[in-house]
Amino acid sequence: MSQPAARVARSRPRRPQMVMEVVAIEDLSPTFKRITFGGDDFDKFQDSEAVDKYVKLLLPQNPESGLKPPFDLDELRKTLPKDELPLRRTYTVHSVDPETKTLKMDFVIHGAEGLAGPWAEQAKVGDLLQFSGPGGKYQPDPEADWHLLAGDEAAIPAIGAALAAMPDDAVGHALIEVATEEDEWNLTAPEGIEVTWLHRGGPFTPESTVIEQAVKDLPWRDGRVQAFVHGEREIMKSLRVYLNDERGVDRADLSLSAYWAYGREEDVFQAEKKLPIGQIYPETGLQY
Ligand SMILES: Cc1cc2nc3c(=O)[nH]c(=O)nc-3n(C[C@H](O)[C@H](O)[C@H](O)COP(=O)(O)OP(=O)(O)OC[C@H]3O[C@@H](n4cnc5c(N)ncnc54)[C@H](O)[C@@H]3O)c2cc1C
Repeated sequence: MSQPAARVARSRPRRPQMVMEVVAIEDLSPTFKRITFGGDDFDKFQDSEAVDKYVKLLLPQNPESGLKPPFDLDELRKTLPKDELPLRRTYTVHSVDPETKTLKMDFVIHGAEGLAGPWAEQAKVGDLLQFSGPGGKYQPDPEADWHLLAGDEAAIPAIGAALAAMPDDAVGHALIEVATEEDEWNLTAPEGIEVTWLHRGGPFTPESTVIEQAVKDLPWRDGRVQAFVHGEREIMKSLRVYLNDERGVDRADLSLSAYWAYGREEDVFQAEKKLPIGQIYPETGLQY
């Protein structure tokens, strides 16, 4: 007898859980911290060819609660009320170094609100972070005629990893939105990829963001484009329509998803994926 779909979905193997230790912290810019993690659990990290690999961090809702990794969420659910359980946040693993058994994540410091941004802002060498993963599936296609990469701060780690993985003869454009010039740093990219930093002039607001218009203003090249476009949800909705419907970019050549939503904690943002407001591809209900 065949199993009901819900049971099949639940029985999918869980991604490995790791607890790793902060071994180095670097300020990349006023709004970006690069944190290097090490420790024995590195061996549990199943690296992949994807350059947009991401993990799910597990962070205490209340940093004053004294809860520290390792967490056993199944056990904690038996004893703690829902509003005291650790919460998930999604972050890109920017790079993995098997030699030193370390991996790096880059955190946007976006103010006092939230869990992961403030955790990163206050992180110290020796702190522990629990996460599971990685997921992710984008890889630069060496057969594409040109590449388009675009996103705001949250997507820079993935865009940076994608640029670093491109073949030397890759051509195209990377458009990256940040607050000000001080938030720019060097990204390794093939010579043929023009990297343009766009400045909002301050923190993200729906009024000050410029990335959507910059993508639409980009002179369109001939040939097959492979596009990697991620960032704030409303912008992604609009760029999805532009790239898919107006420019005719094939779905198979388009990696486009919302990485966050203005005014929403990640839990709300994730929950809204089931609602029309959260859907990037409303005709199918898909998110990417
Ligand atoms: C696949 C994937 C990969 C990602 N990779 C990265 C990464 O490598 N680095 C990274 O920094 N982020 C990344 N993000 C985005 C990150 O998951 C969200 O920004 C997340 O909401 C941050 O959690 P938080 O606890 O700091 O804030 P939350 O508690 O989720 O939100 C608190 C408030 O801060 C606002 N906020 C959240 N993120 C931002 C932001 N970036 N800029 C301005 N305001 C914000 C929210 O709208 C909300 O009002 C990724 C997301 C996805 C889906």
